[in-house]
Amino acid sequence: MAQLSPVLKQATPVVATHGEGVNLYDADGRRYLDFTAGIGVTSTGHCHPKVVAAAQEQVGKLIHGQYTTVMHQPLLTLVDRLSEVLPQGLDRAFFANSGSEAIEAALRLARQATGRSNVIVFHGGFHGRTVAAASMTSSGTKFRSGFSPLMAGVQVSPFPDPGHFGWSQEETTAFALKQLDYTLQTLSAPNDTAAFFVEPVLGEGGYVPASTEFLAGLRERADKHGILLVLDEVQTGWGRTGKFWGGDHFDAKADILVTAKGLASGFPLSAIAASNALMEKAWPGSQGGTYGANAVACAAAIATLDVIQEEKLVENSAARGAQLKEGLQQVADKHDEIVDVRGLGLMIGNEFRDADGNPDGSTAAKAQQEAAKRGLLLLTCGAWSQVVRFIPALVVSEQEVDEAAGLWAETI
Ligand code: PLP
Repeated sequence: MAQLSPVLKQATPVVATHGEGVNLYDADGRRYLDFTAGIGVTSTGHCHPKVVAAAQEQVGKLIHGQYTTVMHQPLLTLVDRLSEVLPQGLDRAFFANSGSEAIEAALRLARQATGRSNVIVFHGGFHGRTVAAASMTSSGTKFRSGFSPLMAGVQVSPFPDPGHFGWSQEETTAFALKQLDYTLQTLSAPNDTAAFFVEPVLGEGGYVPASTEFLAGLRERADKHGILLVLDEVQTGWGRTGKFWGGDHFDAKADILVTAKGLASGFPLSAIAASNALMEKAWPGSQGGTYGANAVACAAAIATLDVIQEEKLVENSAARGAQLKEGLQQVADKHDEIVDVRGLGLMIGNEFRDADGNPDGSTAAKAQQEAAKRGLLLLTCGAWSQVVRFIPALVVSEQEVDEAAGLWAETI
């Protein structure tokens, strides 16, 4: 019989049997502090009782009702509830199953609405692994190499990453905007450019926050040239950064907002939101798929929003994020190899560099593995995988943050 392996490469040796809150357990009963949250997905913690109850109840009523044929109540309720949290002016939502699919939906809508084909994305951005989404991704060559030909019509312009350039935030932002103008002049003329796609905080690219001036500069150019601004909030939405949307830190105003991950506590659900006028430009049948807006996933998303509001998880993300950042900074202060601790809310990265100042992915990987041995699960990110990131569930307590910071200090 063939030997079938379920994974290509696993960063830690953990086989989880169950989870509760920020904790995962294996078959031997060993507890792990999960500061990965399924890559920022299980924001209400593993198996939050309210999410479990909502999903179980929905499974008994209706699992799937394809919404182009049959509407179902969880979708109607979710749409109502989303209007409580979506930025003003984004009054219509469309649902898919993953971040990549939602990014592709946003791309299709942008092309439909503008009649233009090109997009401009920003260096270090990650938008997914499907062919169009990978074509818009530049957070590492591993997402692109070997998959050519990728989609044409994508231009990459600099993201304001002060650590990379070694300049101040102001200088880096001014440079990035100047280069964007150059890109619009030389590579993708405004009347060929449908959209800018940008993350408020680079996720896979290394946990680098954008700046208010940068996003204002994108808005200004978008308005001037009739280009759409797409905010990829797949990783930064739903309280992850200590505000409901990552863009809220920068007063960013999107034409299309893309969300997934924290939306349904682990059930596959993603969405794009835009104005009615923009959504009207999508012709019937051009968006969607068989499984989008699954009834159980929608029920889980409603319960997720209830939990976020009732347990004040956005506020907790801000408070616990500040506590965690301080604890991680104290470790970095004693260790020259960690050159930067950065991020917003509970989205914090620790950047490793070697003695020559080069990005050091191998030490970051070693730190990740050693932390796992001590019961702390972490992920890496960044073009060289040189950043160890902390993204626990937003329900994390003060004591659990202290425990994680202590395990990290021991690991380093
Ligand atoms: N966009 C961002 C900012 C992401 O972080 C991710 C996934 O990590 C995606 C898009 C793709 O989402 P998915 O993996 O659900 O396709």
